[in-house]
Amino acid sequence: MMFAPGATIGILGGGQLARMLALAAAGLGYRTHIFAPESDSPARDVSAAFTEADYEDEAALQHFAAAVDLVTYEFENVPSATAHFLEKLRPLRPGAEALVASQDRLVEKRFFNALGLATAPFLPVENGGELARAVAQIGRPSILKSRRLGYDGKGQAMIREGSDIGGIYRAMGAPPCILEGVVNFAREISIVAARTPGGAFAAYEPCENTHEHHILARTILPATLKPETAQKAMDYVHAIADALDYVGVLAVEMFVVEDVHDGQESLVINEMAPRVHNSGHWTLGGARTSQFEQHIRAICGLPLGPATRLGDIVMTNLIGDAVEEWHQHLADPDAQLQLYGKIETRPGRKMGHVTKVLRR
Ligand code: AMP
Repeated sequence: MMFAPGATIGILGGGQLARMLALAAAGLGYRTHIFAPESDSPARDVSAAFTEADYEDEAALQHFAAAVDLVTYEFENVPSATAHFLEKLRPLRPGAEALVASQDRLVEKRFFNALGLATAPFLPVENGGELARAVAQIGRPSILKSRRLGYDGKGQAMIREGSDIGGIYRAMGAPPCILEGVVNFAREISIVAARTPGGAFAAYEPCENTHEHHILARTILPATLKPETAQKAMDYVHAIADALDYVGVLAVEMFVVEDVHDGQESLVINEMAPRVHNSGHWTLGGARTSQFEQHIRAICGLPLGPATRLGDIVMTNLIGDAVEEWHQHLADPDAQLQLYGKIETRPGRKMGHVTKVLRR
């Protein structure tokens, strides 16, 4: 089903991703309505309507659904009951299947493996006994990850030689987990791509990501990657999107492993996000169509835009105090600055980003 310009797009979540989606939607003549529990949502300033309510508030969800033509979201931890409730009232894009697959690391990894895609070795862990057996099988070092997110950064722990594994598991709150083998990767890349209800697909080139303190610090393009590996990465994401009958933009993070003997590259899938992604922010100013516009086009059933890159790219997140350098970025003719309008600067908080495009 196509939603022509003039329609109202409901967005669950009111952070910077929703803000940039709302701006892109406005550029194509759509209205947006944000649904978020926080009153100081960055998306609020740039949207036609705002509902401040909890995601479990069914009366508020009902009103929201009645006021919009379709619903999308900016984060994958939308409670599944909320997704199913909304799905009965309005088209939810991407659909609940994509949400379910990306909310649980065990379901997600099994889904990748079922498509024939490599992941780190993993085992499910439901209790202390299973953890001990999994550590014996996978070895150390390994990484214990809670299956579901939302544990305030407490969701991951490294198991090393001599680690007190029972203590680590209890400190995490003993949730259902997976234990993952450590991948000795050369680089981390991601693919951002879009698919329409009719099955049209467009992927941006792979980008290379650097993390600091578990937060994306920098994305560069072109990634250091053989052309055939880059193509393979895009093909994998095409297969993932088709398998989910996916609608919208999705991002898939991968590790690039290099064989020490022959330099051959292989890809290990880490995780996916059923939404626009920080590693796709470079597309705003760095590609013919931004990921935000591409998402709006995809969910509305419009033709996708070209995903062509406009030059060599460095996207840097402005985290915490780094936002104070805004003046210097504005003075750089190659830089495109986005600020998220967050009132309070806190360490570790994403305040904006800057993309440098060196045109060829
Ligand atoms: P995740 O929450 O799964 O995205 O993990 C966050 C970061 O931890 C990744 O971007 C990697 O840098 C690192 N990481 C996660 N899983 C593994 C793994 N199996 N092997 C090596 N590094 C990992």
